[in-house]
Amino acid sequence: MTSILEPARDDGVAAPAAPRPGGGGPTRHLRVAVIGSGFSGLGMAIRLLRGGTDDFLVFERADEVGGTWRDNTYPGAACDVMSHLYSFSFAQNPGWKSTFGKQEELLAYLRDVADRFGVRPHIRFNHELLSARWDEPTRRWYIETSQGDYTAQVLVSGTGYLSEPAYPDIPGLENFEGTVFHSSRWDHGHDLKGRDVAVIGTGASAIQFVPKIQPEVGRLDLYQRTPAWIGPKNDKPTSALQSKLLHKVPGYQNFRRNFNMWGREILAFVMKRPKVAGKMQKMASDHLVKSVPDEALRARLTPDYVMACKRLLFSNTWYPAIQQPNVDLVTDAITEVRAKSVVTADGTERVVDTIILGTGFKATDRPVAGRITGRDGRLLRDVWREHGMAAHRGTTVAGFPNLFLLLGPNTTLGHSSQVVMIEAQIGYVLDALRHMERRGLASVEVREEAQRAWNDEVQGRLDGTVWNAGNCRSWYLDEHGRNPSIWPTYTWRFRRRTRRFDLSEYRLATSVGAGRPTLDHA
Ligand SMILES: Cc1cc2nc3c(=O)[nH]c(=O)nc-3n(C[C@H](O)[C@H](O)[C@H](O)COP(=O)(O)OP(=O)(O)OC[C@H]3O[C@@H](n4cnc5c(N)ncnc54)[C@H](O)[C@@H]3O)c2cc1C
Repeated sequence: MTSILEPARDDGVAAPAAPRPGGGGPTRHLRVAVIGSGFSGLGMAIRLLRGGTDDFLVFERADEVGGTWRDNTYPGAACDVMSHLYSFSFAQNPGWKSTFGKQEELLAYLRDVADRFGVRPHIRFNHELLSARWDEPTRRWYIETSQGDYTAQVLVSGTGYLSEPAYPDIPGLENFEGTVFHSSRWDHGHDLKGRDVAVIGTGASAIQFVPKIQPEVGRLDLYQRTPAWIGPKNDKPTSALQSKLLHKVPGYQNFRRNFNMWGREILAFVMKRPKVAGKMQKMASDHLVKSVPDEALRARLTPDYVMACKRLLFSNTWYPAIQQPNVDLVTDAITEVRAKSVVTADGTERVVDTIILGTGFKATDRPVAGRITGRDGRLLRDVWREHGMAAHRGTTVAGFPNLFLLLGPNTTLGHSSQVVMIEAQIGYVLDALRHMERRGLASVEVREEAQRAWNDEVQGRLDGTVWNAGNCRSWYLDEHGRNPSIWPTYTWRFRRRTRRFDLSEYRLATSVGAGRPTLDHA
């Protein structure tokens, strides 16, 4: 073993509740602080409780659990991975109403899970993480929330990668006199009936809400920068027979989940090979040909990149909706927004009273990174700006001891359920906690060389894949064209590579007398 064991507090006494740096009274000390209560934060909390650890809190800035599925309430919001796979393996639901859960159903599922597993008493709602600072002498995180301060031995961030809306930088947008909102912050108080609406963006959210609002709005101008490859969505209501099998036959749910999971691994094989993806593209181009008879319109809807370079979308209602007489597909770039209109590069001015931004999320510039300060007093954001967003096994970062990022860098999937990745990472965190407990470790910090080797491997695997070489500019890429988002291979590989927390990859620091919850049965 190559680890260096550094003695820390060896006085046999657990460090006392610490005063807030810069003054203030003592703060409550936690074994684990979890940020966020979406799939990641809830999953982490449940697994901690099931492992016998109750010395933790979940800090959530909103007033309810659910993350993505609490915030994205736009009409038509739904997942595009089968719900049996897009849910926790340890909390399967035989009652999904159809193949792909709708937002209300997914939110109800997450709320139910929070209740059933008893995590609500551990959640502090309306507690936004403002800052977290690692203190090397006490080997703790000093955590400042909008409603009080805490210290914690371990910090787990479950703040999501699609939780911060990305607003477009369009001159004049701030001076628009009508109503403007982002799809993930839908203004339900604004009645769209008969309105003249501009929708900016034609990505994953727009293809879900446009078909829902098109029949009720007056006019709809759809501003498309790049068309998406869209396949048919095979969404069916759960039949009576399926429902019976799911409720009554032991193991059937597991079978369906695993069948879907392994079936989707074939997609990873395809996406790793642009030539094969190019052939499979026929499925999406046939869908386009069948759905859009007008050749000129079809040409404007045909992407010039290989399928799946940008997220592959699925819909049966998008093409019919955008061919309705009240919809105008605009492919000229927007140059300006005026008080009552949107202006494009060809000089056309279109008067509207509502602008809906379907412009996605800050996936490669995560706000939480601007709130976490590591061992050397540097913000995670600054470290990532200098070296690119990166972590070891998608989870830990050199210079940031005892920090675990759920859905951290290079854990985004283009082919399967993020919940599979989240569960793998939770297992990794629990194994780390077990090691820390057994050895009386105060901190673990990934070695730079381990992190570098991991990232060299991941970036090497990304070379030549459809995500990097598919001829598109997607939200997977950062401003330098590097891909810090995608996990470029099978999910089973990620699960295998995160099954064990390998101490030899970490710098370890001991401490005697730290709190010792039991994690053996997690
Ligand atoms: C519209 C949409 C559809 C999607 N469909 C799919 C799909 O079909 N399949 C799939 O695999 N994935 C899908 N995703 C991706 C989805 O985000 C993940 O699957 C998953 O929900 C992420 O869970 P999470 O808990 O990591 O993050 P989130 O669900 O984003 O939750 C993060 C939580 O952290 C909280 N938070 C953030 N910052 C702070 C702070 N500073 N202090 C306190 N709390 C904070 C937020 O309020 C939020 O509750 C979709 C995403 C979107 C937006």
